[in-house]
Amino acid sequence: MNQINSEQFDNFKSVAVALKLTVDGLQDFVQENLQRLHQNIYKKCSVGRCHYNCSRKYGDRFSQWCSTCQAWKKELHQQNRYRKHWDNIKWRKIDTMDFPYSYEEASKVFIQDLSHGRHGLLEDLNALMSLFRNLRLFNSIINDNIIGDILRTRNTYFAHNYALSLHGVEKAQCLNCLIVLFKIPEIACTQSAKTALNLLEQLMMSQDIPERILKKPNVQNTLAVIQNVFHRKAYGKLEENTIANLFYNDNENFHIKRFKDVQTTKRRNRMVKFLRFAIFLTTLGIGTFIILYGLLSKDTIPVKDPTTYNNKYKSHDKTVHITYGKGE
Ligand SMILES: [Zn+2]
Repeated sequence: MNQINSEQFDNFKSVAVALKLTVDGLQDFVQENLQRLHQNIYKKCSVGRCHYNCSRKYGDRFSQWCSTCQAWKKELHQQNRYRKHWDNIKWRKIDTMDFPYSYEEASKVFIQDLSHGRHGLLEDLNALMSLFRNLRLFNSIINDNIIGDILRTRNTYFAHNYALSLHGVEKAQCLNCLIVLFKIPEIACTQSAKTALNLLEQLMMSQDIPERILKKPNVQNTLAVIQNVFHRKAYGKLEENTIANLFYNDNENFHIKRFKDVQTTKRRNRMVKFLRFAIFLTTLGIGTFIILYGLLSKDTIPVKDPTTYNNKYKSHDKTVHITYGKGE
C-alpha cells in the first residue's frame, strides 16, 4: 500500500469539493440563460406539435421529420458554433418531441457526451463546459481559454489523479481557475455564483475544508465517494478510471450511496452468500439421497401380484375371442 501524505490528500479533497461547488454555483447562470433562449425559440416554433418523436424514430434522416421538429432544429442550429459538433450529434439519444416543453432536452443538442449525468445533465461539469463551448450565447460571455483550463484541471488534478494527492501549488492553481470563472460579471451577478465564489475563496484560504462547507449534503456525498476511492487504493483495487467512473458515470449527480450504506450493502451481500451456500448444501444432500435411493431400489426384484396377472390374461383372452367371433 502506498502511503498517502495526509496534507496532499486534503488538497485533493479540497479540489474535488471545489469542482462540485462550481457545478452548483453555475446553476443560476446556466438555467436562466437556457430558459430565455428556449422561450425565444418557442415563440418562433410554437405552431404544431410532434407526435412521432422524430429524432428517435428517424435519426438524422431529417427529411422525414415533422415540421415542428425541423423548425426547432433550424433555430437551434443557428446557436451552434462548430460544424464538426453539429454533424456528430447523436439524434437518436435526444427526444425532439420534448423540445417545446423542456429547455434541458433542447440543450442536449449542444452537449458532446450524453452518456453522463442521466439524471440531470446540467449537474455535470463536462456537460456545462460543452454548453459553454458549443453555444454561441455562452461563447460571447466565456472565453475558450477559461473552459480549457477548467477541463484540464478537472482531468489532470482530479479525474485521472490516481495518487489522490496534490501539492499546495496545484490546489491553488485549480481553485484560481475556478474563481476566474465566477468573476465574469454575467456569472458573478447570480445568487448561486456569489455563494460559490465565497466558498471557493474560503477553500483557498484554509488547509482543511471549512466546517461551513462540510455541512453541505452535496459536499458530504463527494467526500463519501472519495473515501470509497481511498479505500480501494489502500487495498490495491484502484483501477484506471475508477475516480472518473465513480464521479462521472453512475454517480454523476452524486446520487450515490453514502459510506454507511456501502457498509450495510457489504454486510447484506455476505448474508446472501451464506444463504446461497446453505441452499447449495441442502440441494446437494437431497440429490445424493435420491441417487442412492434409486441405485438401491434397482437391486430389488419386483414381485408380481398373481391376482393382477390372472385378470390381465383373462381380459386378453376375451378380446381375442370376440375378434374371431366377429370375423366368422
Ligand atoms: Zn417531430
